[in-house]
Amino acid sequence: MQTPYNNPYIDADLAALGEQARRFATGRVAPGFQERDRTRVLDRTLMREMGALGFIAPELPEEVGGLGTGTLAAGVIHEEIARADLSLSYINLLASLNGQILANYGQPEVAKPWLQRLTKGEALIAIALTEPSGGSDAANLRLRMERTADGYVINGEKTSISAADQADAIIVFGRTGSVESGAHGVTAVLVPGDAQGLTRSRFDCHGQRAIGRGSLFFENVRVPLDHRLGDENRGFVQVMQGFDFSRALIGLQVLAVASVALEETWAYTAQREAFGKPLSAFQGVSHPLADFETQVNAARLLCLQALWLKDQGAPHSAEAAMCKWWAPKLAYDCIHQCLLSFGHAGYDRGPMEQRLRDVLGFQIGDGTAQIMKTIIARARAGRGAVPA
Ligand SMILES: Cc1cc2nc3c(=O)[nH]c(=O)nc-3n(C[C@H](O)[C@H](O)[C@H](O)COP(=O)(O)OP(=O)(O)OC[C@H]3O[C@@H](n4cnc5c(N)ncnc54)[C@H](O)[C@@H]3O)c2cc1C
Repeated sequence: MQTPYNNPYIDADLAALGEQARRFATGRVAPGFQERDRTRVLDRTLMREMGALGFIAPELPEEVGGLGTGTLAAGVIHEEIARADLSLSYINLLASLNGQILANYGQPEVAKPWLQRLTKGEALIAIALTEPSGGSDAANLRLRMERTADGYVINGEKTSISAADQADAIIVFGRTGSVESGAHGVTAVLVPGDAQGLTRSRFDCHGQRAIGRGSLFFENVRVPLDHRLGDENRGFVQVMQGFDFSRALIGLQVLAVASVALEETWAYTAQREAFGKPLSAFQGVSHPLADFETQVNAARLLCLQALWLKDQGAPHSAEAAMCKWWAPKLAYDCIHQCLLSFGHAGYDRGPMEQRLRDVLGFQIGDGTAQIMKTIIARARAGRGAVPA
């Protein structure tokens, strides 16, 4: 029988892990999907349960609570949690992105305890790059980080940050060099959520409401030197590499939502009748679904390929950018088609319209399609041939 795991990237161990994650997601995550959209609270009990099962950042080393797997393991878990609730699967996304940054660039005495809390599901860490003046031109950020004898003093604002008001700590990118130094004057630091001088707000988001977004306001926030991630002024050049990982994961995340929408729509159109036949008998109904079925499968393989390349230590920035622009647009268009296939019922508040709202955010968050296509163009034509 065809399963989502019948492909060359997924071996028997990964398939077993995915099936375990699906059982958990079906039993524990799916039931609260719509309720969390209303309450806008990420369920910390579920987060700890996921941690106890090894579902959070399994690619991290065992000494910090990971399973020491490759990144494909993170991928198969991530898509199963996202099938049940995209918002909740932000736990996996943020942990894998930020866990990798902390593990690679943190001072061990600071990073290790945070990583242990992260993998146990006891801490949520956000990442703050975007500012009110813009997100696409990320290297142009303005938030000031002044170096003192024993650390940094931070002043300024970050905005549109996922989990801004729920995170226990935030990886913050700030300007330590001159504005003219661009990407070469940016430093990353870890700021504990209870740091003095840090205040936060929450937006009223269209989708992804359980995780939410908001602003972070820094007023003379002090962080010790050992909270720096990577070298001074190298935050952008070093730490930004982590985004290739999260872009492939985002692809799997939104495509998982599209897949479950397709499954429900095939079942519905097979049993609901019009003009004396099942809806699926009409090619106007079934062929668009078949088109999306084809493309969703293809895009998923591209995401798995990007993670596989990462696990091989091979370059994958262009592939990750392909996942990031294609999958969110495809997932949105697919779920839109599914919603229409339900007729008036699709327009009621319910799982389908929530999925549409949830996936839309990823056409913007983590970089828009235009920026992703610029990354692909640079990889193929050369950076000099594709200036910003
Ligand atoms: C759901 C969601 C979650 C997010 N989570 C986070 C988070 O956790 N952390 C974080 O730091 N940020 C986060 N963001 C912010 C996000 O990364 C930015 O919104 C995004 O990078 C775009 O920046 P902007 O909104 O300032 O748009 P702008 O940079 O102002 O761009 C506006 C439009 O112009 C286009 N554009 C800009 N420059 C070019 C160009 N050179 N060529 C062609 N088109 C261009 C863009 O594609 C976009 O369509 C999130 C956003 C959303 C919606």
